[in-house]
Amino acid sequence: MQTETLNELYIDEIKDIYHAEKQTLKALPKLAKQASSEKLRAAFEEHLEQTKGQVARLEEVFELLDMKPSAKKCDGMEGILKEGDHVAKELEEGATLDAALIAGAQKVEHYEIASYGCARTWATLLGYDDQAKLLAETLEEEKLADQKLTELAEEAINAEAAAGTEETEAPKRGSNSKRRESGESSETEAGLH
Ligand code: FE
Ligand code: FE
Ligand code: ZN
Repeated sequence: MQTETLNELYIDEIKDIYHAEKQTLKALPKLAKQASSEKLRAAFEEHLEQTKGQVARLEEVFELLDMKPSAKKCDGMEGILKEGDHVAKELEEGATLDAALIAGAQKVEHYEIASYGCARTWATLLGYDDQAKLLAETLEEEKLADQKLTELAEEAINAEAAAGTEETEAPKRGSNSKRRESGESSETEAGLH
């Protein structure tokens, strides 16, 4: 199909995002299963529920366009998810895997933020205000999901991964935290005692 108009480009983008969301619906439970941090697992599970609503919003967009929902293969999301999978396969469960899962999930969110941002703007330009509103709602959710992942990484997971510990809940470690900040690996720490 030759895409010649902004309207066609817009519809193609909606079909692409629809396929992308369907892929994330399948990926999020797998990410949740691999997470060691309770908070990270909860974040993935929460985003899974949100994603179901996002798929429903896209179905509303199709309805407003007088079209049946249809997907067009999203190579971008497929690649991002595949890459995340490859990285995760190299890692044991623990903080480093959690850091990798966060990185992969943030790439997913950024792809979605770019897609929904463009689609929302195009919907507005085309005079599809109701569709633009639906797309803007999802765009906000994706941005918040991305921020949440940054928070989880910054509050504990990155530091734990850097310290080389397998544990993921920071409070449990109490008095050990000072030494870890000195940058010694956990192997060295064990040797010192
Ligand atoms: Fe999404
Ligand atoms: Fe795509
Ligand atoms: Zn998302």
